[in-house]
Amino acid sequence: MDVNGTEIKTVGFQRFGFDCEVPIDVLRSLYLRPHYVTTSSDGLTNGVFSDENAKEEEQHARFIQGNTAYQSKSIYHPDTQSISYTTLSRFPPVKLLPPYGRKRILVTGGAGFVGSHLVDRLMILGHEVTVLDNFFTGSKTTVSHWIGHPNFEMIRHDVVEPFMIECDQIYHLACPASPPHYQFNAVKTIKTSFMGTLNMLGLAKRTKARFLITSTSEIYGDPEVHPQQEDYWGHVNPIGPRACYDEGKRVAETLTYGFHRQDGVDVRVARIFNTYGPRMNPADGRVVSNFIVQALRGEDMTLYGDGTQTRSFQYIHDLIDGLIALMNSDETRPVNIGNGDEFTIGDFAKLVRDIVYKVQREDGVEPQKVNIVHKPMPTDDPQKRRPDTTRAKEVLQWQPCWTVNMGLEEMVRYYKAKMTEGSI
Ligand code: NAD
Ligand code: UDP
Repeated sequence: MDVNGTEIKTVGFQRFGFDCEVPIDVLRSLYLRPHYVTTSSDGLTNGVFSDENAKEEEQHARFIQGNTAYQSKSIYHPDTQSISYTTLSRFPPVKLLPPYGRKRILVTGGAGFVGSHLVDRLMILGHEVTVLDNFFTGSKTTVSHWIGHPNFEMIRHDVVEPFMIECDQIYHLACPASPPHYQFNAVKTIKTSFMGTLNMLGLAKRTKARFLITSTSEIYGDPEVHPQQEDYWGHVNPIGPRACYDEGKRVAETLTYGFHRQDGVDVRVARIFNTYGPRMNPADGRVVSNFIVQALRGEDMTLYGDGTQTRSFQYIHDLIDGLIALMNSDETRPVNIGNGDEFTIGDFAKLVRDIVYKVQREDGVEPQKVNIVHKPMPTDDPQKRRPDTTRAKEVLQWQPCWTVNMGLEEMVRYYKAKMTEGSI
């Protein structure tokens, strides 16, 4: 159900001459893969899946509404601690667009969490998609279901090095996004933000491609203004542990508007607020993935500080709708894309725990009681964050549709499936 209580059957819309509407069950069939846990060496008993496997399959089929035609399978063999993958017998159908409607789209960071969902959407819509990624935090498995498709290409490349390709649109996402990942090698993070963006803007200038950068709410730092609107200049510690990311994105925005004013590059700037969903790297340390994985494993949930800091969480499909709308609109000013439902992290931990319990009970498992434990607050952790999305509403006619409960439930099922499969 969406925020108005209506069942969500499709995501996207037709706007600004660009159709981005696709059925949700087709997308789900790409990220909610079936999972088979074998109890014998081949997982079959007389050619029939064991009761346990049949139950898992039935639950999964119910969830993806029977749309199993385009699924690859990962089969985990506990005896040998190995995993085997099947390939697709056919690709999901993609729209047949006339040559004038088909765009050549470059997605940097396309093997990451956000990138892979954007790629799914653009592929289903019938465009030619090239993914550029160095697989630092992303993985080939997030888009492997498109490998071999005539409209799809994947290139291992680091954006700090120049790259040339003919294209019509560039979605520039390449950059680690979780605090542990971007702090792992701070110098590389700022290099990626600065040199990577410089290279991609140079490419946009040469090819006259439209350029969209995924900036972040982090450019507002620890904000003194609440909620944050695009005109707010921010409050960032330039030498703290988060600076490599925050200042990296700020300078990336500066570069973007430099190329726009000096060279007439057609730019779009999306300031994304906390987003979650399936395919988030379970080890990337962000709060939603941490809490769900901890609760599913029956481990203590780690709440940093006293839990009074706030965040506002947006589900991945809403973000993809917003990014595509922005790319195809005429808006060159920065636009916040996020969900206005604000939670203290303490309340959010309880909500995640309740949803994990609910899913486990629905699947016939009595949940293990999970405790919430306090850990030290990271340095410079922003105290509050909520987007003012008036601009997105006015210029893109965009508003989030997914409730946090609905998105979290889907994500819990995704991680549960991955755990059963043995891949996380
Ligand atoms: P992610 O870490 O899952 O994906 C980032 C992708 O970029 C990965 O595939 C990674 O391998 C790739 N990458 C990193 N450095 C690279 C380099 N030098 N060259 C080529 N590829 C490189 O993160 P995400 O959540 O998918 O974020 C995607 C983008 O959205 C980032 O630019 C991030 O700053 C922005 N963003 C995300 C959020 C969020 O909540 N997810 C919020 C604000 C902004
Ligand atoms: N957080 C937490 N426990 C965790 C991970 C994060 O309490 O296991 C807190 C973190 O301190 C921050 C909020 O959750 O206040 C969001 O953290 P995240 O790393 O997801 O994103 P960001 O800080 O970049 O918004």
